[in-house]
Parts: sequence; C-alpha cells; structure tokens
Amino acid sequence: MTDISSTADRLGIRYFLVSYTDLFGVVRSKLVPAPAMAGMVDEGAGFAGFASHLDMTPAHPDMFAVPDVDRMVQLPWKREVAWIPGDLHMDGAPVDHAPRLVLKRMLDRAAAAGFNVMTGVEPEYFLLSPDGSELSDQGDTRAKPCYDQQALMRRYDLIAEICDCMQDMGWGPYQNDHEDANGQFEMNWNYSDALTTADRHTFFKFMAKSLAEKHGYRATFMPKPMPSLTGNGCHVHFSLQDRDGGANVMTGDGELGLSPLSYNVIGGLLHNAQDLALITNPVVNSYKRINAPRTTSGATWSPNSVTYGGNNRTHMIRIPGDDRIEIRLADGAANPYLLQAAVIAAALDGIEKKTDPGKRLDIDMYAEGHLAVDAPKLPLNLLDALRQFDRSSMAKEYFGGEFCTAYAKLKQEEWNEYMRHFSTWEKENALDV
Ligand SMILES: [Mg+2]
Repeated sequence: MTDISSTADRLGIRYFLVSYTDLFGVVRSKLVPAPAMAGMVDEGAGFAGFASHLDMTPAHPDMFAVPDVDRMVQLPWKREVAWIPGDLHMDGAPVDHAPRLVLKRMLDRAAAAGFNVMTGVEPEYFLLSPDGSELSDQGDTRAKPCYDQQALMRRYDLIAEICDCMQDMGWGPYQNDHEDANGQFEMNWNYSDALTTADRHTFFKFMAKSLAEKHGYRATFMPKPMPSLTGNGCHVHFSLQDRDGGANVMTGDGELGLSPLSYNVIGGLLHNAQDLALITNPVVNSYKRINAPRTTSGATWSPNSVTYGGNNRTHMIRIPGDDRIEIRLADGAANPYLLQAAVIAAALDGIEKKTDPGKRLDIDMYAEGHLAVDAPKLPLNLLDALRQFDRSSMAKEYFGGEFCTAYAKLKQEEWNEYMRHFSTWEKENALDV
C-alpha cells in the first residue's frame, strides 16, 4: 500500500478527489485535504447513495468510496490536486451494482476463461459556447469539415493542452483531429487493459470538460448535440490476450487474418447488441445518432443495423486489421466502466457458445443497407432498448440480477420523465387534429 502522506508531500498534493462513477456515468467526488487522507485509504470517503444515480433510498446507510490508490492521477493542469477512482462499499461489502465493480467482476470472468482484455476508446466531443447553444467556432462551417486543418488550429491552444496532459500522465497520445461534424474533435491515446482504459476514459471526459471551461468553451460528449451533424461516437477497439503467454489470440488463419475465436467474439457482439444497447447507447438522445438520416457531411458514421464488415466504417463492427476488432455502436453517453463490461460480456458469451457471426457483408450499409434484408435492426429508442435489456437472460447471467434490476429501474424512471416532457413537435402535429 502506497503511503499516501509521503506521496502527498513528495508530489506537492494538497487535496485528493476521492471519486466514484454512478450508473449514469456521473463522476462524484469528495475533496479531501491531504492531512485527512490517511484515514480515508482503508475506510473510504462517505456518500449518501440515493443522492446520485444508484438504486438506493434516503434510508440506506452511508456508502464508502474506497480509493484505488494505485490508480491515482495528479491533475497535470492543477498539480496540487490528485484524482483517485474508488470502489463502493456499504456495511463492509461491495455494492454489487457499482459500475467499476461490475467491470472488475467481468474482468475476473474473462481471466477465468483464460484472457486478458485489451481495449482502446475513441471518445468524440464537440466544443460549444458556454451555454451549449451553439458551436464555439462560428467560422467552422465547411460542409465536409473532417480533418480541417484551419479549424483544428483555431483550437490549438486547448487541444495541445489536453494532449500535453496525456503525455504528462504517460498515456501515449498519438494523434488529434477535427472530426466529421463542425465543432467536433477526437484525440487518441494508446490502448491498454480494459480497467485502465475505463479509468482513463472517465478521466479524459473530466479533463476535456475542465480545460474547455478554462478556455471559455463547453466540451460535450452528448450523442447527437446538433440535429443535422454527425454525432459523438465512442468506438471501442477490442482484443484478447492469452493470460499465460500474453499472445494476442485475435490473430489467426481465418478470413482477414483473424482467428476462429475472433469470429466467435464478433458473433457474440452481434448476437447481444440489441440486449446491451441500453448500456452502449444509454440516453434518449442516443437513438438520434444511430438509425439517423444522412448528415450534412454526407454520412452519419454510425451503424443502423447489426452487421459486420472488413475495413468498412458503415457497419456496427469493423475489422481494421488482423489483431483487433472495432465496435462502432457506443456513443459519448456510455458509462466508461459499463461500456467495457458490456463489450467483454458479449465477447465471452460468443466464445462460450461458439457463436457464428455469419458471412461478412462487404457493402456500403449507407447506400445498400436495403440489401442486408436479414440484418437485425438496432433498438429504435430508449424504451425499445430498455425492453430488450429487461428480458435479456444474457444480461442477467453476465451482469447479475442486482445490477440489471437497478439499472433497468433507473433507466425506466428516466424514460418516464422524458415521456412527461411536452414538446413543440407534439403541438405542431396535433393542434389541429
Ligand atoms: Mg471518430
């Protein structure tokens, strides 16, 4: 165990953010002064669970976020503060539906099956005005803005600062670009084990939002913030290593250089995509990104059906090389821990059942999607996804009954709240009935 007091002294840390991530992906923290931190290392920081998105009542006892001290990150832009992800406990026992613990259990399951899970994420985001009403850059109006050098360099000060922070933390950032929507950016760093990727994904969102605020902008990961523009995807690159030798077991002598096991992984991801969409695409707005009409740039870059292809970005699963696959379904609202857990669960299910993904489709799904007559459609809205998740035996088997009940309950409440919202569209379309 790291001696937290001497670490704080050595690094000049005055405060610790002891945090946890709730079911909806909101990061909750207590700001703990360094001299008090020693008492928190074993006990954890206390929280009232009902006050965040967890399935608890106001009558529940305190829960404690026990800091995972080895995962501490000193904020590169405010070095006197360190962030530590925590794991939730109540009455001395782990909280079963706490997202970070859900992922840890899933990783144990992968380990028992003989695998280390290696993943990378590509969280896209928009830079908006502080009130979120318009793009931060009014000059960013190109019809095809992807990789636009001019617009990228107008945000150089912020992009470079975020990238420098990633270099500081040793993440191995390797490229930054302007993405396919006006005002949209993506930054890529090295892949790693799935828990590290989930912690970094969580921290990346915090960092991008914090530094954007400092520069007078607002960073949003909302799935579809602008109706006519490409949405914020969060693609996951996935591979498995043999736990014994560390070899990548995705590579093999099958089609496109992948192993038979990789095709079972793809089979599992396809077979369970509808059941787990509530996790990969968790908010009402998520369903405005998938199944969406063509954007002003010419393509949504998001899937509309449950299909896979080769190196072809119009499918839900892409095979970019012989060492990994890319899952293009998830969006920026996905909880970083649950997202990883969902992908792993679907992959393990495919391996266990030796699920056959069927034949690869080498077509442009945006132009020729109608030819894929047998391809299952993705859920059309959050309620559709909720019902799929609710009746999924696979979700219960891999995530456990307590998590599934808690998650479905909170998502149902969110849907009910949405249904109580009265929109102008309704009035315009029913006023004169
Ligand atoms: Mg992208």
